[in-house]
Amino acid sequence: MKIYFYGLHLWEGDYLKDKIGKSLSEHEIEFSEKDLNPDSLPENDAEIISVFVDSVVDKKVLDAMPNLKMIATRSTGFDHIDLKEAQKKGVVVSNVPAYGANTVAEHAFALLLTLSHKVYEAYDQVREKGSFSQEGLQGFDLLGKTIGVVGTGHIGTYAIKIAKGFGMEVIAHDINPNSDLEKELDFKYKDLDELLSSSDIVTIHVPFCEDTEGMFNEERLRKMKEGAVLINTSRGGIVETEALVKVLEEGHLAGAGLDVLEEEGVVSDELEFLRKEHPQESDLRAVLANHVLIDMPNVIVTPHNAFNTKEALERILKTTVLNIESFIEGNPENTVGV
Ligand code: NAD
Repeated sequence: MKIYFYGLHLWEGDYLKDKIGKSLSEHEIEFSEKDLNPDSLPENDAEIISVFVDSVVDKKVLDAMPNLKMIATRSTGFDHIDLKEAQKKGVVVSNVPAYGANTVAEHAFALLLTLSHKVYEAYDQVREKGSFSQEGLQGFDLLGKTIGVVGTGHIGTYAIKIAKGFGMEVIAHDINPNSDLEKELDFKYKDLDELLSSSDIVTIHVPFCEDTEGMFNEERLRKMKEGAVLINTSRGGIVETEALVKVLEEGHLAGAGLDVLEEEGVVSDELEFLRKEHPQESDLRAVLANHVLIDMPNVIVTPHNAFNTKEALERILKTTVLNIESFIEGNPENTVGV
């Protein structure tokens, strides 16, 4: 089999070669630091590819790889892959369902604590001004606050466990409520509107899909409690950026901690975006809204980095290799479909 890994950091290539690459040693393997996308089409005979979320595997990319049989994404989310087109072409897609549930939930709380204890402002003040004044640095406790967890899958479950450790009241919402989990972790499921109006903090852990795209639009954001905080480590497209800017500016929400942004791909490569002859108006608006958001003092933005710990990345690589091996053996695991 010809197996190509895209968007791989050098250390990941070394890790694969040294530790777990041996099981695949009879196959032809190529490592590339570049991501795949329709603007830099691959011309190759890959039968299996492995990509990360920075790649875009759409029809154009799939058409350019006629021998492709399998895509192993090194992520939980798979909205960067056109699943319908892959299915049409008989290409199996696998993901890494649970490499870093604790990791991403920990990051959600890192964002929340940064806001609640004004960690960034305090650090910046001490470092830049050498001032140890507490003026303007008053935060708020998590103890006793109500947190609304939207999506109680792998990551949401860890978020609930961590919140319990802080002595928070937990309520949750999921299209498939898990009553065993509700009993075990001692929280209550609510409908979304009730969760929004009762939570001091809302943390989002649903996947990006047709149902969740724009789920946090202006109407929903306005249903959140006055002075509440929104945390999003899921996918940017779940929260409408312009609406979020509006409710933050008006002071309806007190703050936001975001690891993901709408159209973050465009924002991360603006030079490339500007080189395009006809940028989409919607992309331009997203770039602008993201800049406004990033500059707001009560907003913390991290660059889709919630998954990025040593332990989580090693788990990703191990599961990806297992996914590829199981596919080659004829028993594909962790497959995802439309
Ligand atoms: P999961 O599949 O285990 O859980 C998702 C939960 O959302 C499920 O319980 C599901 O029933 C629920 N859900 C789906 N649609 C819903 C809807 N419309 N309304 C209410 N609930 C709904 O997924 P997970 O492992 O917990 O990951 C969640 C998401 O986090 C991923 O899809 C991915 O986009 C994101 N993620 C981000 C990072 C990062 O680095 N920022 C890393 C990993 C995952």
